[in-house]
Amino acid sequence: MTNDQIDVPRTNLPTSENKNAVEMHGCIVCARIFNILAVYTPDGRLVDCAVTSPGGHCVPDEQRPLVACNTHTTGEIETAYKRWKSRNGKELDIEQEDE
Ligand SMILES: [Zn+2]
Repeated sequence: MTNDQIDVPRTNLPTSENKNAVEMHGCIVCARIFNILAVYTPDGRLVDCAVTSPGGHCVPDEQRPLVACNTHTTGEIETAYKRWKSRNGKELDIEQEDE
């Protein structure tokens, strides 16, 4: 009587658990500091962010959380966001190309 135990190696995919991070960021318009809760994937991509201080909200960005006060207009935030991008990413002031 054979008593073989078949040991099937389990394909154990790494569970992609996002991690939460509490950070402080300044408003992109006036630099007022807000506490935020950011969610990152295990490889460091920003998934979501929420402002935990009153009076602010997140500005969507693919790379990092950005915040702005609720008192600023969309136009003010857009202008500040463009300025922020040209200051923080030198490649980003070139027109985006399909590549
Ligand atoms: Zn502000």
